[in-house]
Amino acid sequence: MSNNEFAALVLEEREGKVTAGIQHLPTERLPAGDVTVRVQASTLNYKDGMILKGLGRLVRSYPHIPGIDFAGVVEASDNPEFKPGDEVILTGWRVGEVHWGGYAQKARVKGDWLVKRPAGLSPDRAMAIGTAGFTAMLAVMALEAHGLRPGAEDEVLVTGAAGGVGSVAVAILAKLGYKVAASTGRSAEHDYLRALGAATIVERSELATPPARPLLGERWSGAVDAVGGTTLASVLASMRYHSSVAACGLAGGNELSTTVLPFLLRGVNLLGIDSVMCPKATRVEAWERLAHDLPLDKLDALTSRAGLKDLPALAERILAGQVRGRVVIDVNEV
Ligand code: NDP
Repeated sequence: MSNNEFAALVLEEREGKVTAGIQHLPTERLPAGDVTVRVQASTLNYKDGMILKGLGRLVRSYPHIPGIDFAGVVEASDNPEFKPGDEVILTGWRVGEVHWGGYAQKARVKGDWLVKRPAGLSPDRAMAIGTAGFTAMLAVMALEAHGLRPGAEDEVLVTGAAGGVGSVAVAILAKLGYKVAASTGRSAEHDYLRALGAATIVERSELATPPARPLLGERWSGAVDAVGGTTLASVLASMRYHSSVAACGLAGGNELSTTVLPFLLRGVNLLGIDSVMCPKATRVEAWERLAHDLPLDKLDALTSRAGLKDLPALAERILAGQVRGRVVIDVNEV
């Protein structure tokens, strides 16, 4: 293939049905942007699963290249902040949704969306973290900004723990010295979660029914919730006085039925985590912390690999809650 062409996973829509296939496209088809990047790796996230299956009307225009994150090397730049050869990471900014994304050997984006890859993180490891790991770090930073410190009396709960956001959150919190409780619906992953640093395993079913009373016994000093729905309602009812829940996800539903009592009578903070429009200074800080606060052996333990061609099948699995940890996508495996 010439340097003026690139391979990509392209979504097409016909009669309301979205199909995915590998195509070779000329570089000039890339969307407008001031930086062209040779993509080295991308990843699989829950939102990618939704986009690959055409769910949630996240993509409004086809043909479309999905992939909400990537690591790569700058190939050409009209942006003064970047020059050819710079190593960069992209997450968020609705790339892979409204702008062509990382399931391709090349991408063209606004330089303002890029972050320089921290020294010490290979492209593969940066994407083992990817959007899910970046979100986990934003959640930990939000909890800390609201007073959480290692040595907190009770455990910090992570829900959806065997998934991408959850696995990285468990590993970061354990490394920082927090006592971590991991909630999972998969009994086969208990040892995996303990190896990442979870001290206690909580069965998903314990949190899956609406709380019996608006306030239950205080159980958690903090929480990272990747599940939403009834799980989040249940977690809110069991938080300690003046503690915080970082709400990241909706894998278990996007409706929230709760009372105001956790907020009024226990001063609980519900912190929304948004990795998509997150300001650049916070992004840079989160990536620097990820490069230091995530033990590489744990990161490697939660990572698996696949190629572009494997994505349609992986989309089904992540939406069914069957993917463990993080999946790095090799964009050259077509
Ligand atoms: P994963 O699918 O990797 O993880 C989600 C986990 O949630 C699953 O592994 C499973 O964990 C649990 N789960 C799945 N379905 C259900 C269910 N029906 N009821 C209860 N638990 C369930 O996804 P990610 O980690 O990539 O993303 C998690 C969530 O976070 C998604 O909703 C995603 O959209 C959101 N997200 C939000 C971001 C933000 O900026 N706010 C950024 C990135 C992700 P287990 O088997 O251990 O129980």
